[in-house]
Amino acid sequence: MSKNVRCDPLRTAAARRRDAMLAEVTVDRDALRANVAALSALVAPARYWAVVKANAYGHGLAQTALALEGMVAGFCVYRVDEAASLRAAGIRTPLLVLGPVESRELPTALECEAALTVWDRSFARDLSRAARQRGKSGAVHVKVDTGVTRLGFTPAGVPEAIDAFLTDAGLALRGVYTHLAAAEELESAFTLEQFARFEKCLAPVATALEARGIRRHAAASAAAMLYPPLRLDLIRAGIATYGIWPSDQTRAAAGRFGLVPALSWVTKLVVVHDVEEGRSIGYGCTFTTARPSHIGVLPIGYAEGLPRALSNAGIALVHGRRVPFVGRICMNMSFVDVTHVPNAMAGSTVTLIGNDGAETLDANEFASRAGTIGYELVSRLPAEMPRRYAGAQTPAVIPARD
Ligand SMILES: *Cc1c(COP(=O)(O)O)cnc(C)c1O
Repeated sequence: MSKNVRCDPLRTAAARRRDAMLAEVTVDRDALRANVAALSALVAPARYWAVVKANAYGHGLAQTALALEGMVAGFCVYRVDEAASLRAAGIRTPLLVLGPVESRELPTALECEAALTVWDRSFARDLSRAARQRGKSGAVHVKVDTGVTRLGFTPAGVPEAIDAFLTDAGLALRGVYTHLAAAEELESAFTLEQFARFEKCLAPVATALEARGIRRHAAASAAAMLYPPLRLDLIRAGIATYGIWPSDQTRAAAGRFGLVPALSWVTKLVVVHDVEEGRSIGYGCTFTTARPSHIGVLPIGYAEGLPRALSNAGIALVHGRRVPFVGRICMNMSFVDVTHVPNAMAGSTVTLIGNDGAETLDANEFASRAGTIGYELVSRLPAEMPRRYAGAQTPAVIPARD
């Protein structure tokens, strides 16, 4: 054999994964746009910034942003490399990096004109210096910690920091924001307390912010729906963009306001075993058939994003019927009991998230059976899993207001 073995050199690794057809995610771009249009209308005149961190909550970073370009006033990412990927994909909309940034990333951040989140004076000085060396100013949003105890200046330090940033030629202050801890709850006293802290610390600089058009923001999806006063100048909507409710309470409170799930996730049966009563299924012998059964084998497991907590607990759809996961979820495989599904056979489609006939499994239901939430389930769908994009390629022409 030659030293450099090359398999099928004309196909990329992604194309070879599609050939395998183990599982596939489909993202409906029209649904993404319908969600943005619906929530935009609800929150207007506040602007809509779409949060596309974590590979756009598993929906695919660049494709999601391309579907929404022109419809949203900005995109929020977690890291500078995500901002760079969006620029490389042709995205021209304003970007905000929500997370921490290393000094060595500053040149890239400045090149992509991504605004950075600042909660630390020494970081702001580093950014200012790097920007001035390039004859630029670095765009920033100041973050205020009003109660999550995660990132942000303490409220008391905010007016002084803002004054300093406004007079720093290396910085361009674009926004001031906070993040809420309990906005999925109706009438949360903590949310109102956080909002009061935010307003109070901005009062001394309110005129300066107003005069310069510096945006104030606090609401993610849930607060945008439940707390109108918190919409301020813009909302940062992640989960709602994808048509997934932040919580059951939010869904119940939303009334006639609707969301359309954009993502579906399917796999297929690779084998169906016709087994007798008393047969053990999978590792650890955690499930034994109580009657003669048909057990379907799926070609994906926890390495493909199927939570192991679904072992003997999850549900999937086969030929329009709900079927239980049985036995433990393995690394790359898993099992469903298809005894009551007459046509189940090798090759039958298994829907994990989405519709099949009259049945629907949404991300939150699927996740709750694994003791988690829709957010975690979709954001952990492996980036290398094949994704198909349905719906119109060209965004509806709805100009963003910035
Ligand atoms: C993830 C995130 C959001 C979006 O939250 P959703 O509940 O998905 O809308 C908004 N702001 C910040 C700071 C975030 O980290």
